[in-house]
Amino acid sequence: MYGADWCPDCRRAKAFLKENNIDLDYVDVDLDKEATKKVETINNGKRIIPTLIINGTSHTNPDNAQLGAALGINEEHRVIMYGANWCPDCRKSKAYLTDNKINFQYIEIDKEENEWAIPIIKELNNGKRKIPTILINDDIVLVEPENEELRQALNIDVVKEDRIYDTIIIGGGAAGLTTSIYAQRDRFDTLILEKKTIGGNAFLTQKIENYPGFTSISGPALMDKMEEQARVYGATIKTGEDVTSISKAGDHFEIKTKTSSHYGKSVVLSTGSTYRKLNIPGENELIGSGVHFCATCDGAFYRDKDIIVVGGGNSALEEGIFLAGFCKSVKIVNILPTFSASETYIEKLESIDNIATYMNKTSLEFVSDEADRFSGIKIKDNDTGEESIVDADGAFIFIGLVPNTNSFKGIVDLNDRGFIKTSGLANTSAEGIFAAGDCREGAIAQVAAATGEGVLASYGIKEYLSK
Ligand SMILES: Cc1cc2nc3c(=O)[nH]c(=O)nc-3n(C[C@H](O)[C@H](O)[C@H](O)COP(=O)(O)OP(=O)(O)OC[C@H]3O[C@@H](n4cnc5c(N)ncnc54)[C@H](O)[C@@H]3O)c2cc1C
Repeated sequence: MYGADWCPDCRRAKAFLKENNIDLDYVDVDLDKEATKKVETINNGKRIIPTLIINGTSHTNPDNAQLGAALGINEEHRVIMYGANWCPDCRKSKAYLTDNKINFQYIEIDKEENEWAIPIIKELNNGKRKIPTILINDDIVLVEPENEELRQALNIDVVKEDRIYDTIIIGGGAAGLTTSIYAQRDRFDTLILEKKTIGGNAFLTQKIENYPGFTSISGPALMDKMEEQARVYGATIKTGEDVTSISKAGDHFEIKTKTSSHYGKSVVLSTGSTYRKLNIPGENELIGSGVHFCATCDGAFYRDKDIIVVGGGNSALEEGIFLAGFCKSVKIVNILPTFSASETYIEKLESIDNIATYMNKTSLEFVSDEADRFSGIKIKDNDTGEESIVDADGAFIFIGLVPNTNSFKGIVDLNDRGFIKTSGLANTSAEGIFAAGDCREGAIAQVAAATGEGVLASYGIKEYLSK
């Protein structure tokens, strides 16, 4: 803090920090000419005090509320979050705290001036650099918490909203956001309930090169634009809302989440699907940079490179053959002694020179080089138990896609793999409930396709609400 003894606001700010046990370095500008110059530089030539620098950001004569916001001071709790702007879970926690009006001090660990924070995070996480790491009152440490854990730790109330929306959209990915943009423009007020981060699966990918209009755009940048557009048209967005049930309440639907309850005249299910993971060490850390789940999306990054495909069903072989067309080599690791794919794929595979197969092998862990970059997969022969490492530049996992539709069983018809059955304008088997995107039977699992399905669902809503 740059201040002076005669300055009442400096005294007020100092007292507030003291009351809240915040340490500060205090520099009296009357005694330090360099400090005066610094204050003038920060304030466009003006000598305004107190000027505070908190985690590299300057605050000019902040009131106590502003200080509380910057330092994470709330009535009962002080909240400090160590995170990074690229980290989806950090965004999820930030959005949840912001939505619930909880002040938190955000320390961006990638900023040079915040390097001091790295040893703190490592100490709190047994030597690992895990984010978000959230400290509550210096004694509760939450690492990559679900919103429900944050809710409990901070005593955030479960909310019951009286307002009845025209439509409630469950899932804030490409399909849900597009439905909302179209519905809002049709003057239907929409509420998007999102369990994690707005942006869905597309948010997880570093580069999207097949979304029309952008030769190349990062997943977060594209999804931020869609979110902004939905907000501009008036959508209400609530994150950290994991929908657990839908029931009919008179003319409308009641949607319950783990933390709240909402009402809508119509509902759109756009919860997407989850690529089945191997759940072996190293996987989570390398997703998006070495470990991938979509050949159409990320295959082009591996032109003339060696890659591994894990799986033995139709999608593994189809995608393996596709990747072999431009990758230097494709090594298919299959846990079973034979492929479960159709004969056509198996025959085709045998005629391709740059595909090698590793049958009856269990994937044990992802291996990285010294720079923490993907370098291969450690496998074990299921008969002999012999372990070896398959080297490659990247790996694609095709062991199934699981729709996020568990909460909708018994509410709408699902197919035997759990995908939602639809007809016409994205209608499900339940009147007034629509489905769009990757959770729907027959979905293509591409961002452009999901947005198209969102448009279709919005037309379904319009038809239903205009009856
Ligand atoms: C790593 C990766 C890379 C990809 N790269 C590309 C690419 O380059 N190009 C391309 O076109 N496609 C790509 N895809 C596919 C693309 O991301 C999906 O097809 C698209 O995101 C589908 O959109 P969606 O809205 O249907 O579902 P999602 O994007 O999956 O969004 C669904 C949302 O619903 C939320 N949700 C789930 N359950 C609940 C619940 N119970 N309550 C509340 N919310 C819930 C989820 O948290 C999620 O945010 C990629 C996918 C992955 C995983």
